[in-house]
Amino acid sequence: MGKASRDKRDIYYRKAKEEGWRARSAFKLLQIDEEFNIFEGVRRVVDLCAAPGSWSQVLSRKLYLPVKLDPNAKDSDLPLIVAIDLQPMAPIEGVIQVQGDITNARTAEVVIRHFDGCKADLVVCDGAPDVTGLHDMDEFVQSQLILAGLTIVTHVLKEGGKFIAKIFRGKDTSLLYCQLKLFFTEVTFAKPKSSRNSSIEAFAVCENYSPPEGFNEKDLHRLLERVGSPSGADDLDCSSGWLEGPNKVYIPFLACGDLNGYDSDRSYPLPKVADGKYQSLDPVQPPIAPPYKRALDMKKAISQGIRDMEKLNVMHDC
Ligand code: SAM
Repeated sequence: MGKASRDKRDIYYRKAKEEGWRARSAFKLLQIDEEFNIFEGVRRVVDLCAAPGSWSQVLSRKLYLPVKLDPNAKDSDLPLIVAIDLQPMAPIEGVIQVQGDITNARTAEVVIRHFDGCKADLVVCDGAPDVTGLHDMDEFVQSQLILAGLTIVTHVLKEGGKFIAKIFRGKDTSLLYCQLKLFFTEVTFAKPKSSRNSSIEAFAVCENYSPPEGFNEKDLHRLLERVGSPSGADDLDCSSGWLEGPNKVYIPFLACGDLNGYDSDRSYPLPKVADGKYQSLDPVQPPIAPPYKRALDMKKAISQGIRDMEKLNVMHDC
């Protein structure tokens, strides 16, 4: 798909470039905030799976820059924003970057060290594996990222804090809901308007972190296992915290973002320009080390090799 054609078919892709966001995902976080006011009172944040960085940009613009530009603010008032991803990210003002795998204990330790004994008010996680199209498999890998996110949450989030995590809706959604409900008094699954209806993606908005009494971070996995087997989860009642009984789980599900606003599944006409020729904008920040870079380099080297061989053959023919 050409850039102009994508601009037409994906309004949030076009708007992201116009507003200087590195990815259209920025709108998802902004629309979640419109509904849940997630940034209120927030001074310390962890952004898990942050590259290319549009959520970190939102955090920087919403939390860091207003303080930085306030002439009465002191350095100690500046918020702490720590962003982690497997991929390196171009710098963002006010964001500390850690390159690493969130499922690895060492990465979690580096994040915790940045907080230097203090706790975060908010942890966000937009982690996604490379989607295979096999829904069960994608949902499983995604759930491993949420689990890694929850592990970090149990170490860095303050009581009363919030956790926003991307989920893939599937047959284990109610199990995940019950597991999150063990740690948060409010859990809502939200679908921002900028997230396509055709995508199984949604976001768990978890509010008021309050781990079970006497909870030890080392017991996390054991505790989650007690919530139930995936196949049995639909029959569990997790509203009371302990998960037995006949009640079916109803998961609060909310569409968010201005309902009269742009629809991510619709095409919109391109804006009219003076000379009649629409000029598509370049992406704000192309990935600096995309995972496909090696494949592209190899393809280039092979093409160059073929050209060199052909030249040699021509020379021999002469
Ligand atoms: N929120 C980002 C933004 O607004 O720019 C977009 C995140 S993108 C949808 C998903 C990211 O998850 C990718 O950058 C990928 O590298 C990262 N990711 C996937 N698995 C990861 C892991 N195990 N550890 C750290 N990052 C991971």
